[in-house]
This record gives sequence, C-alpha cells and structure tokens, in this order.
Amino acid sequence: MSHKHAMILLAFIVLGAVSGVLLGWYNPTLAVNISWLGTLFLNALKMTIIPLVIASIVSGIGSLGNLKKLGKLGGFTLLYYSLSTATAVLIGLIVVNWIQPGAGMQWSQTAVPDYILEKQNTGISDIILSLVSPNLISSAAQTQLLPLIVFAILFSMALSTIGEKGKPVFQLFDGINEAMMTLVIWVMHLAPIGIFALIAARLGNAGGGEHFLAEMKAVGWHVVTVLTGLSIHGVLLLLVLFLMTRRGTSYLLGMARALVTAFGTASSSATLPLTMECVRENGVSHKVSKFVLPLGATINMDGTALYEAAAVMFIAQAYGIDLSLTQQAIVFVTATLAAIGAAGIPEAGLVTMVIVLSAVGLPLDGIALLLSVDWFLDRFRTSINVWSDSVGSAIVDRFT
Ligand code: ASP
Repeated sequence: MSHKHAMILLAFIVLGAVSGVLLGWYNPTLAVNISWLGTLFLNALKMTIIPLVIASIVSGIGSLGNLKKLGKLGGFTLLYYSLSTATAVLIGLIVVNWIQPGAGMQWSQTAVPDYILEKQNTGISDIILSLVSPNLISSAAQTQLLPLIVFAILFSMALSTIGEKGKPVFQLFDGINEAMMTLVIWVMHLAPIGIFALIAARLGNAGGGEHFLAEMKAVGWHVVTVLTGLSIHGVLLLLVLFLMTRRGTSYLLGMARALVTAFGTASSSATLPLTMECVRENGVSHKVSKFVLPLGATINMDGTALYEAAAVMFIAQAYGIDLSLTQQAIVFVTATLAAIGAAGIPEAGLVTMVIVLSAVGLPLDGIALLLSVDWFLDRFRTSINVWSDSVGSAIVDRFT
C-alpha cells in the first residue's frame, strides 16, 4: 500500500472511530443495532489469524537460514519483552502509589461474574502448561495462539534440520504468508466502518454517554491512574525507539492504523494482521517482524501488566489494606506473569488478575470494583500492548 493510500485510509479510520463515539454516546439503541457491521470486520480479521500466524513463523524461521540465527533473534526478542514488561509494571506501581486512587473510597459491593471466579485456582503451572497443546486443531478452534506458536517454532526447527527436503515446505509457507498479507490489505479497507460500528456498539451497550460518565465518575481516580501510567509508558517506548533506532513519530504515525484498530477491537490477536502489515510498511525486515509480532501479540502485554499492577493496588487501597514492599514485589512478579498468561482477547487481563490478587491474599471481590470501566480501559491497554510489539520489532530489527 502506498504511503498516500495508507494516510487516506488512516484518516477514514480515525473518522470512523470519532463518529462511533458520537453515535454510541447520543443514540445507544441505533448503535447497538448496527453492531453486526463491527462483528463482520472482526470476523474478517479473525479469519486470517491462524493461517497468518503459522505461515509467518514458519516462513520467517525459514528465511533465517540456520538455527543459530534463530537463537539470536529469539534471545533479543525475549530480552526486549521482559525488560519492557517489567518497566511497565514498575510504572504502574509508581503511579498508583503516587495518585492513591483507592484511598478513602466508599463503594457498594457488586457480584463478581462466574467466568472470573472459575479461574480462582489458576497458578503459574497453568501458564506453563498452556504452552503445549495436546490437540492443535482444538487450540486453533479456540484461537489459543501460544501453543500454535510453540508448535510452529518447533516444526520450523525440525524443517531446518532435515535440509533439502525441508526447503519446498518453507517455500509453501512463504507463499501462504504472502497470500495472507494480501488478504489482510483487502480486509483493512473495511476498518473505517468496522471500527465505527465496534466503538459505537460498545458505548451503546454501556448505556450511552450519560451512563458512561456516571460509571467513570465512580472510579474516576482509578481511570486517571491507569491512563496516566499507560501514557507515560507509551511515551517512554517512543523515546527508547528513537534512541535505539532513530525512528520516531513517523514510525508512530505508520502504526496508527493498527493502534486505532487495537482500540476498536480491544484485542491484540485480532489486530495482529494489521500490526504486521503496518510494521512491514514501516520498513522493518520481514524475517524479524514475522517472528517478533505473533509472539508479541500473545506474550508481550505491557499495557496489561501495568494495568494489573495498578488495579490490584487500587483494590488494596479501597479495602484499606496496606501492602508492604515485599508484597508489592510479589505484585510485580505476578502481574508480569498474569500479563504473559493473558490471551490477546477483550478483557483477558481482568480474568488473569485473580493470579495477582490471590498471590497477595486480597479478596477476589475487589474485581467487582473494576467491572464497570474495564471495557473502556481495556482499549487503551490493548493499544499500548500493540505499540510495545511494534517498537520491539523495530529495535530487534536494528540489533539482529
Ligand atoms: N485485551 C487485551 C489484549 O488483547 C488483553 C487485556 O489486557 O485484557 O491485548
């Protein structure tokens, strides 16, 4: 897609997002009625995810040539992911200790939904177990990307090892990958209308503008804390990107279509096809982006990690429970793990938060405090998740 074409499309996507807010705000009923347009766009994106993820990883590893290079690429990628996620949690903890959003809060108890309570006994071993699937087809059917990625990496390593016989298979996946990227560009043209409908319908479901404002007011400081933390982290990533690669705001602008889509869909996985396309257009080498981005969309969730830490501290403050430094260190570690374990789907972070709450012995009921605004904050943290993946691919590209 040419630069001019991309900018025109971006303008339409932003226009779609703004009109979506307006429609959802003032006419929630109509907004909910047109939600199928958003579903159509979302389905078209999701349709591409499984073939795209597998083909991009296999053809990416194929283009590396040998397994030593994979080791280097993998090492750099994991280093970036760990450092950026840890920084995000730290920013979350600093901001929440500074703003103290839950201090002196009065709140009326609401029930915690079952889908969250069911996860009560999720432990670290569950996260590790989720890496290897006993049945790839059923993982694919449930869009569980992590075990598919692990399989694709192992499969590609095996293909590299068998030499000549592996080459045509790599070529086949390369062809599938190119075809999927072309399909993604076609789907991208649906984005303005899709984002419009998704945002309008979600706001409409929340009861329109007045209702939304009332919800925001109740936990206003929590919203302010999370948005402040996310903004600081987003700007910090931009600075790091500039220092390490000399890329700056033009890179951000090039990613804007993916970032607005992340906001509209609240799902890193659904946004992945667009993230890959934008990063490509921004000039990051294909062999890096094909490996870094699918992995990033599932395990590198800076926004989610920051959110988990800030939200758990907010709950502690609202209950009037003081968490010691040691306990905050536990929050630090478990929020990182909970973010890695969260799938790239809407509100996944809210569900994995039970890991953090249980680790420091806070009542799970606290999650009820967050329910009314989570759908809204989810969109911002998803955009930061995608932004961190995008920055990561540029940095890894520079150093490998
Ligand atoms: N919705 C987020 C994502 O897809 C995950 C979360 O924080 O809930 O990246």
